[in-house]
Amino acid sequence: MEGKRIFLASPHMSDEGYELEYVNDAFRKNWIAPLGENVNEFEAAVKRFTGEENAVALSAGTAALHLALILAGVGRGDKVFCQSLTFSASANPIAYLGAEPVFVDSESESWNLDPAAVREAIRLHGAPKALVAVHLYGMPAKMREIEGICEEYGIVLVEDAAEALGSVYEGRPCGTLGQLGALSFNGNKIITTSGGGMLLCREKEDAAHALKLATQAREPFPWYQHEEIGYNYRMSNISAGIGRGQMRVLPERIAKKREIFETYKRELAEKPLSFQEGVKDSASNRWLTAATIADDCKVTPTELIRLLGEENIEARHVWKPMHMQPVFSDCAFVKCGDAAVSERLFNRGICLPSDTKMTPGEQMKVIETLKKAF
Ligand SMILES: *Cc1c(COP(=O)(O)O)cnc(C)c1O
Repeated sequence: MEGKRIFLASPHMSDEGYELEYVNDAFRKNWIAPLGENVNEFEAAVKRFTGEENAVALSAGTAALHLALILAGVGRGDKVFCQSLTFSASANPIAYLGAEPVFVDSESESWNLDPAAVREAIRLHGAPKALVAVHLYGMPAKMREIEGICEEYGIVLVEDAAEALGSVYEGRPCGTLGQLGALSFNGNKIITTSGGGMLLCREKEDAAHALKLATQAREPFPWYQHEEIGYNYRMSNISAGIGRGQMRVLPERIAKKREIFETYKRELAEKPLSFQEGVKDSASNRWLTAATIADDCKVTPTELIRLLGEENIEARHVWKPMHMQPVFSDCAFVKCGDAAVSERLFNRGICLPSDTKMTPGEQMKVIETLKKAF
């Protein structure tokens, strides 16, 4: 192995050092707590960026999804539909609540929820309390159809936009399309707070309730009074300082991610790769460039990942669908037709290094390695 390791996606602090300034400010003022100016200002910056009026900064994207399902009224035994092709954090909160996930297949264009499969799932299992829609690798799902189905059946639409900050669907920012939207600022996401998340709410009351639940559900009494189960999910003022700084470079990061994708697409046009496509009138932040290898090509994703690894380049399989995971083996899975689209995407898919710190020379090394492998 030679050269510096090329990462899939790693934390990228601003050259100007904005993040450290806000963190130092918290130290100077001794606001080392899960509240303070950085938390408020980070929320304000995300609200300005997305246009959503209500946002609650939390300790993780998973916490945002957990609270979203509670706000949706999900409880023991309730059904919740969830995209099968996703990271486990989309589905785990359903299990936290003792609810029953029904996993739904993807369509091959955006790789996200297939609206026809959602309708089929309703036919087979009845309408669920909530539906978790994901924008995989930043790519917006077919939200118009999904929103239509949710409206028709009174299903609460929870948007897992953990990977999609900066993506846009029909002019509307991802994270603001559902009644409730979850963002993540984990270390590998487009911007990071080292670890963190945010819940975006269409309704002001939901945001107020989420804030209360995230801070141990304390009632407004002179003593500690509790009338519902609370959580310790608030974001720390230190993490929020990092987030505040990161928001100042978010547009640059999105531009760079898209440029990385365009370069792969251009340079690898002749190779047996199909890149994740956009659906009409949508724009992905291209958090990760993802593609499938043609079925008739002998190279497998595992082999490609190994060959890249030998060059000290990190690549990864596409998420293994939840219905294929041992931990969810008892759960229902609904697809249209004979073959599951999500299974093919997993079997033939690969995520390429999309690190915004990657230099053009480093990306060419990735491209040359891929060309050689084919
Ligand atoms: C990262 C991620 C999450 C969870 O976010 P955390 O902040 O890591 O808890 C949820 N869903 C998807 C699709 C993700 O990629």
